Amino acid sequence: MADLRAELVVLGGGPGGYTAAFRAADLGRQVVLVERYAVLGGVCLNVGCIPSKALLHVADVLNGARHLAEAGVEFGAPKIDLAKLRAHKQGVVAQLTGGLAKLAKARGVQVVTGTGRFEAPTRLGVATADGAVAIDFERAIVAAGSRAVSLPGWPDDPRVLDSTSALALGEIPARLLVVGGGIIGLELATVYAALGAAVTIVEAQDRLMPGPDADLVRPLQRVLEPRVAGIHLRTKVVGVTARGDGLHVTFEGEKPPAQDRFDAALVAVGRRPNGDRIGADAAGLRVDERGFVPVDARLATNLPHVFAIGDVARAPLLAHKAMHEGKTAAEAACDRKVVFDARAIPSVAYTDPEVAWVGLSETEARAQKIDVEVARFPWSASGRALGMGRSEGLTKLVFAKDTQRVLGAGIVGPHAGDLIAECALAIELGADVDDVALTVHPHPTLSETIGLAAEVANGTITDLAPPRRRKDTGS
Ligand code: NAD
Repeated sequence: MADLRAELVVLGGGPGGYTAAFRAADLGRQVVLVERYAVLGGVCLNVGCIPSKALLHVADVLNGARHLAEAGVEFGAPKIDLAKLRAHKQGVVAQLTGGLAKLAKARGVQVVTGTGRFEAPTRLGVATADGAVAIDFERAIVAAGSRAVSLPGWPDDPRVLDSTSALALGEIPARLLVVGGGIIGLELATVYAALGAAVTIVEAQDRLMPGPDADLVRPLQRVLEPRVAGIHLRTKVVGVTARGDGLHVTFEGEKPPAQDRFDAALVAVGRRPNGDRIGADAAGLRVDERGFVPVDARLATNLPHVFAIGDVARAPLLAHKAMHEGKTAAEAACDRKVVFDARAIPSVAYTDPEVAWVGLSETEARAQKIDVEVARFPWSASGRALGMGRSEGLTKLVFAKDTQRVLGAGIVGPHAGDLIAECALAIELGADVDDVALTVHPHPTLSETIGLAAEVANGTITDLAPPRRRKDTGS
């Protein structure tokens, strides 16, 4: 006998899971949401996107204040009360997670706190603090997320951090090693460097941050370089020994740093999906060798009554993708005829400057031999960027040579993450460069750089030196 019955059970209370649960409840289903932690919100709200952004805002203000010296305004050295900063960050998290609990209650979504695993095709077992709870369900949505990849051979030591422990902000190490120059590594390097740590970044590849075109990452690297102790590309850690005075680390690579001692090391070398931890076999649910639960356009798995969304379903591992998938899966589980068919999903690194990209990159277009043109608008010609002292920025558009349709975009500079939304909308609506160029953007704003990049694309730009080749069609 089951302890509970559910028309729909959702496994995992992160952004994908709670969105799916709430949407299905709004469509009239009786929903049980299973979450292993006492608060809803998953990695994103509790130990990911939200606390990191609270800290990155502080880093941004600290860096901005230092920057103002160039404009003739100097502040004294900042006094950082770590306990207060930690409480501020937790306050932001608590406000959001508390709000989620209220939203669940308002919808009549029953939350079961415990770790869930499938026990049969229509049964989930949940290990709660009060013992095992069996839930029989008609439909299920798996939203079990992902976890940080750890590196083999590293000591089990509290000074070895992952993103969760780094965001806990136990202390500011005098010397911090960051292994992995991806989004997490660089966002946390930005936070810790602003708070006073000497940060060394090592990255295995020949460039920072996989994903965006290299010309979007270069301005970030140039800003970051003077703020950190070192950035070492094509470099790997080959040995770590934990001693009383710190972590002693040896490196290998093209120009590896000498063996060195660090007070802490953050390992940020990617995340892997949790498909291997949900008892999938007991339900006959297919999980691939990487740990993803494969899905079709309706987010249905190999079992027609089970759906999967978010990090556990497929890349990109992004909260906003999970939330949209959550809505589609909830509607599909309620027998609505829906598919997830987003044309483009934006990515953002909330570094300083931010790097944001959406759709087809120039690199991908070249590799796939897609006939594209690229237009760039340098922020050194933006009055607003100059006023902010941020001329390093760049806005670029990738568009089809024949139709002039916008296929992709990339932005580096402050607020790039907010600005990229316009480019996502352009791609989603099938806009061409004239549509974007003829849209009146407010002046002087950073958003204007998108309109001006489109003017570079259609040859009507007057804010830069005259284009070499004018496209005068007379129309
Ligand atoms: P990532 O894949 O973005 O970057 C990992 C980096 O580590 C890569 O550059 C890789 O070359 C490098 N690397 C791998 N093994 C290494 C080794 N042994 N030594 C040195 N370098 C090594 O992964 P991440 O930064 O850990 O982020 C994980 C996931 O979380 C990503 O998929 C990302 O999309 C998501 N995420 C997104 C955001 C955001 O949207 N702002 C923030 C955090 C995380």
